[in-house]
Amino acid sequence: MINSKYNIKYALEGILVFHSSFFTAAAMEMDSKIDTCILKTPDRKLILNGSTIAGKLRSTLENIFGEQDDRIKKIFGYQDCSSRIIFNDSIAENSLYEERQCVAIDRNTGTAAEGLLYDKEIAPPYIQFKIKIELDSSDETGAGDLEILRLIEKLLSGGFVNFGGNSSRGSGFCFLKNNVVKKAVLSEEKGFISYLLDNMEKESEASGAAEVQLKTAGKYSSVLLEYELEFNQGVLPGDKNKKPEFNDEKTDSDIMPYFMRTPDGEYFIIPGSSIKGVLRTKAESIFLKRNVGYICDPTSPRLKGYCNKSYKADKKPEALCEACKIFGAVNYASKVLFSDLIMEDKISASQMKKVEHVAIDRFTGGGIESCKFNETVVEKPVYKGYIALRNPSLNDMNILTHLALEMNDGKIRTGHSTRKGFGRLAPKLLSVKVFACSPENEVMSALTGGASFKTYKGAEFIETFKKHLSTIENGRNKANE
Ligand SMILES: [Zn+2]
Repeated sequence: MINSKYNIKYALEGILVFHSSFFTAAAMEMDSKIDTCILKTPDRKLILNGSTIAGKLRSTLENIFGEQDDRIKKIFGYQDCSSRIIFNDSIAENSLYEERQCVAIDRNTGTAAEGLLYDKEIAPPYIQFKIKIELDSSDETGAGDLEILRLIEKLLSGGFVNFGGNSSRGSGFCFLKNNVVKKAVLSEEKGFISYLLDNMEKESEASGAAEVQLKTAGKYSSVLLEYELEFNQGVLPGDKNKKPEFNDEKTDSDIMPYFMRTPDGEYFIIPGSSIKGVLRTKAESIFLKRNVGYICDPTSPRLKGYCNKSYKADKKPEALCEACKIFGAVNYASKVLFSDLIMEDKISASQMKKVEHVAIDRFTGGGIESCKFNETVVEKPVYKGYIALRNPSLNDMNILTHLALEMNDGKIRTGHSTRKGFGRLAPKLLSVKVFACSPENEVMSALTGGASFKTYKGAEFIETFKKHLSTIENGRNKANE
């Protein structure tokens, strides 16, 4: 090892904290009762495997630098050249997961698609993994290697990379905390021993931290919005299968709010897929009003089927309808990801209120005595979550701005019983992080002001963004000409 050309060892260490549910599929595990198992050790501890981290980071860096970038190829390895970067498997210290009964939701009707009920294991928010990424380096490659490692550090601590599957349903949002880059010179005895004892010296925070030269062959930009949703009139994020154990007649009902048991206690959660669902439906109606052309609709008797049929036929994203281009289709990743929303306070019975409903007879207009049911509302809750946007075009920004305005006006609702006044959401933007290299449009370049990374407070971002509204509108008109 000491005689090797690569006599310097860098290591990036930290704790990856998940702020939404988390899922990596165990391909080999068979359980007759569960359709999709989560990856775990035989003693039921969650695993984040090194190959998952490696694959996601490599594809992110290839987007940034271009697939043929020499530096990325040499670090990650290619045919006949082994990789110099090692991603260790990590086992969660606080292992929790539960079975979630999922229903494939027909994305146009918003109702359960028939025959598509399945079980899957899923981990709750606040799961933590201690991670370690090691990079074999040399005097010759050191400066460039350190730059890449620092870029990985910034992308992970900024929350720009999601891990695991299920991302279109809200899983995988995470942040690297307590991060540190360490170094050991293996050709020196002191350095070699420190490496063996896992006691490497901390590299000065200034080293390699300068902006990486990102005028590259790739085109990549990403925006991460942190926001709160307040429900002034309460919300009914119902779940018929599971109840918190209050055993309290005052709050116990047929439909209780959905919650998950996290390492930090029990929290009410609105799955990211619910928010995405209501916003997609709203976006589709905006597109239809604007007459932008075909929006796929599997329920229509004339134009049957989702976009995926035509997409599969010629494999071009341009073949997708406007809604699928931004919200995703089969085999085409969504450009906008919604994390699960977690209520800021832990579950307490005092926030819950039971409401009684009577099913109305559609012929007589009167109540049906045998069809009384009740639901439990969470009163005035505040939920927090994230929205990630990848490579936004002016067109994408336009529709998302439109949705934000509709939300602001209180025109969007989620959950059960929205017609009875529940679920009206009031959004508040907390902060926005922007990452961009060679962005495809002038608004993204303006938002980062020439740097690669920029962080805004919510109000500050809205003020800056307003200045670009006419550029965005013109861009949309041009795209639709
Ligand atoms: Zn479509």
